[in-house]
Amino acid sequence: MKKYDLYINGDWIESTAGEKFETKNPATGETLATFPKGTKKDVVKAIDAAERAFPQWKKYPAPKRGDILLKAASIARKKKEEFGEIVTKEMGKILAEGRGDVQEAIDFLEYISGEGRRLFGETTPSELSNKFCMTIRQPIGVVGCITPWNFPAAIPCWKLGAALISGNSVVFKPATLTPLCAAKLVEIFEEAGLPPGVLNFITGSGSVVGREIVENHRVKAVSFTGGVPTGVDIYGKASKSLKPVHLELGGKNPQIIMDDANIDLAIEGVLFGAFGSAGQRCTATSRLVIHKDVYDKATKKLLERTKALRIGDPLDPEVDMGPVASVDQEKKILEYIEIGKKEGAKLLCGGKKLNGKRYDKGFFIEPTIFEAEHGMRITKEEIFGPVLAVIKTSGYADSVRIANDVEYGLSSSIYTKDVSTAFRAIQDLEVGITYVNAPTIGAEVHLPFGGIKNTGNGGREAGTTAIDEFTEMKTVFIDYSGRLQKVQIEK
Ligand code: NAD
Repeated sequence: MKKYDLYINGDWIESTAGEKFETKNPATGETLATFPKGTKKDVVKAIDAAERAFPQWKKYPAPKRGDILLKAASIARKKKEEFGEIVTKEMGKILAEGRGDVQEAIDFLEYISGEGRRLFGETTPSELSNKFCMTIRQPIGVVGCITPWNFPAAIPCWKLGAALISGNSVVFKPATLTPLCAAKLVEIFEEAGLPPGVLNFITGSGSVVGREIVENHRVKAVSFTGGVPTGVDIYGKASKSLKPVHLELGGKNPQIIMDDANIDLAIEGVLFGAFGSAGQRCTATSRLVIHKDVYDKATKKLLERTKALRIGDPLDPEVDMGPVASVDQEKKILEYIEIGKKEGAKLLCGGKKLNGKRYDKGFFIEPTIFEAEHGMRITKEEIFGPVLAVIKTSGYADSVRIANDVEYGLSSSIYTKDVSTAFRAIQDLEVGITYVNAPTIGAEVHLPFGGIKNTGNGGREAGTTAIDEFTEMKTVFIDYSGRLQKVQIEK
């Protein structure tokens, strides 16, 4: 078992307080590593280092910053197997998904490294003669990146890659459940040659480390992914210093199956969407909205396929679904299953914690399906586990009404063979992402990612939009007329 430290100003150093916490495998209970419980003082040290590093890093040519990120991508590619296994051991998603998480990190670093040769502003004509107008992008300064545990390689890379290519220095706080994956990433950036102080890494609790990152006025922007309550708290606290905050929050994502859909394809999709990563994806399918004319056929197939899923240690290649990530996750999900039963939803399959030899040391829950009425809590609140609510609808309008009637607006999907229905849904679904004839998951790094309503506050990660949250736009006017020209007055 390895003991890790904080990474500040290019050195691995102990926390000022010396307290530790352990990171464990949620399938076996094995302790994987220990990490410092960072303190407010540690965060201040990290901000000092980031502030000192910022002026040089800002001036470092952006294409060269891109070279470092590209090198980080190539190191991560070499370590993909080992890193993917760490993701699986620390977070609990099956090995194929652990590798996929790392692949997404690699893809994004490769993609965003090219942004170093773009970072486009605009040029535009002036309304006066002999005057030139343009915009340029500039880094913001020291930025804070606070990440969740469910994509422990990809989500930190989305934030760090975009922040660094834009020329910011970073204080990075990962989730307490997945510090090992985060430390592996920091090691990769270190090996790639990132100058000291440009990336600083502080582990520890949200209420201490996260809070100081958010409240310290020398942190000029915060990028956060996590739950709605934490996002609301951060937004409120950050507003005191008016710093920009990018929030990527929860989801309650619907998959609609229309009466003309390819049912086999749709069921294939929902299995992956609802039970991949044990339902712990912000874009997980948590509601299956089925047209009444195909309801019986679709639910029958869904149940057959769900009951055949193999649950176990996610390192085992034969396994389809691993554990949930922690004892708290397990408790919350089991509570929601009880809520569903009490509300009168009909339990179609699953519903229990798994016990027995291969399950006793981990947090295993059966893939669970309820037949539910829209409006029940299990159809409206994010459960973040392998629990799917199936809802029967009378047709397209009813399906879209139900799909939209939640506080979240992240992902959505519709299965139909009718191109008109597909295009209507693309317009009508109130979300940031819509899939047609594909599940609610499947982000690609060169396209924007994010949600509307309570899922976020307007920003988008990934794609070229990723740099918007990490750059300030400066407007520049160059007058080469040699005389005072008065805009709006001279006509
Ligand atoms: P969380 O909100 O509990 O924690 C996220 C991060 O915030 C962690 O690093 C945590 O330590 C930190 N934190 C906690 N309290 C804080 C505070 N008061 N101030 C500052 N930081 C604080 O979320 P989680 O359980 O790690 O992740 C699950 C949630 O994340 C789900 O709701 C899921 O939908 C959401 N999520 C959203 C997206 C997206 O892109 N929209 C992606 C992945 C996960």
